[in-house]
Amino acid sequence: MVKQLVAAQNDFFATQKTKDIGYRKQHLKKLQQEILDQEDAICDALYADFKKPRFESLATETQLVLAELKHAIKNVKNWSEPNGVGSSLSNFPSKDWIQPEPYGKILIISPWNYPFMLAMTPLVGAITAGNTAMIKPSEFSSHTSKIMAQIIRKVFPPEYVTVVEGGVEASTQLLEEKWEYIFFTGSTRVGKIVYEKAAKHLTPVTLELSGKNPCIVDETASLSLAAKRIAWGKFINAGQTCIAPDYILVHKSVKDRLVNRLQQSITGFYGQTMEDSKDFARIATSKHYQELKGMLEGQTLLFGGSFTDDDQYIAPTLVDEPALDSPIMEGEIFGPILPIISYEEESELHDYIAKYPNPLAFYVFSNDKKFQKRLMSQYSFGGGTINDVVVHISNTNLPFGGVGQSGIGGYHGKFTFDLFSHHKSITKRGTWLDVPLRYAPYNISLKWVKKIKHLF
Ligand code: NAD
Repeated sequence: MVKQLVAAQNDFFATQKTKDIGYRKQHLKKLQQEILDQEDAICDALYADFKKPRFESLATETQLVLAELKHAIKNVKNWSEPNGVGSSLSNFPSKDWIQPEPYGKILIISPWNYPFMLAMTPLVGAITAGNTAMIKPSEFSSHTSKIMAQIIRKVFPPEYVTVVEGGVEASTQLLEEKWEYIFFTGSTRVGKIVYEKAAKHLTPVTLELSGKNPCIVDETASLSLAAKRIAWGKFINAGQTCIAPDYILVHKSVKDRLVNRLQQSITGFYGQTMEDSKDFARIATSKHYQELKGMLEGQTLLFGGSFTDDDQYIAPTLVDEPALDSPIMEGEIFGPILPIISYEEESELHDYIAKYPNPLAFYVFSNDKKFQKRLMSQYSFGGGTINDVVVHISNTNLPFGGVGQSGIGGYHGKFTFDLFSHHKSITKRGTWLDVPLRYAPYNISLKWVKKIKHLF
């Protein structure tokens, strides 16, 4: 089945049909219409998967994809055109340009935490750039995978775009095939497996992985606003956000006030009985739910800490000064648990931040411009925000991605188009002049070779 689909996509790409801008645009528009028509059904599927609140489904899934589609439809022609560049003097007379060209078949493997957005956003770029695509969504968000498969079936012939549902087995089978590009979003552990498989065929990859994202709050920060913004970014999607702040490093002199304001923000958002809130999601997989519960064992809690096994609910929870060798500080938390660690001297920050290299996101709350600048330039991270969290993802003029441990490559907007295009360099020589210097026998003196520099 996989082999047949791959062969069909190979044959279809070879017809050159996907290179036609009108054809790409027509399908992007069809996809846009179908998502608009199915928006309620998509939200229902996300709710069935992990009780994702409707507001969050619209704001962080369908509307983000629709915004990408609108931008792509508007720009597909312009982005696809050859881009003229200055010519080299030694090639005179010539014209030079860069021609974006689709790679071919793209494999997109996506996770369960933003299951619609993280599969469809790369797809939009893959189609805009003129490729075919196969999507392998997560087995842990099966309702969303089903509706995506339906939408894709309605919009695209399978030789153009297909969804292959299934788990590790399906993924492994797909990775045995030769792709012209692999776009993977998920854990760093699986990212390494994907990279190894891709290497076998020299396939280029984008790896959107994970990290332990620090959030630093100094003594000059606007605390009420910081607390509100941190609580929003941490507890949206029940903390299952790759760029959520993972842990807070707060100056000791303002720790109590920050904790107090975080508590106020959380109860302001979700009420006193948080499990009854319609605006708070559940943990999507039972394995991860058990891991999160385990992380709370032996910790001192400042807030929250309750859970319900029936629907995998974990309350928004604040943990006080966890030991650095406890499970909660071992790796990415990826749930509604927020450790709060205090520091007194700026020099202490380094010990914490350097322990988790290349986080996917990095946050600083401070009104001290020099402090902001120092931290932002000192550390290597995917992307970040000063005086807010998560929101750098929403600007399509900014590439979104990780570095080192948190990934390879960045996308969104034009960056996705560029990611899925090979940029061909072309020089077109004129035929009315042919300077003979480069041809043997080399009679020109070596002194002149050094002087002229650009002989070809
Ligand atoms: P995961 O790595 O377990 O799975 C991701 C995808 O890979 C799924 O489709 C899964 O079926 C497949 N897969 C799993 N094991 C595989 C294997 N052995 N071989 C081949 N394929 C395999 O990730 P997840 O649990 O679905 O998602 C959560 C993780 O993703 C978190 O670590 C989070 O930080 C990360 N994430 C990163 C981003 C980003 O943009 N950088 C976005 C969302 C999530």
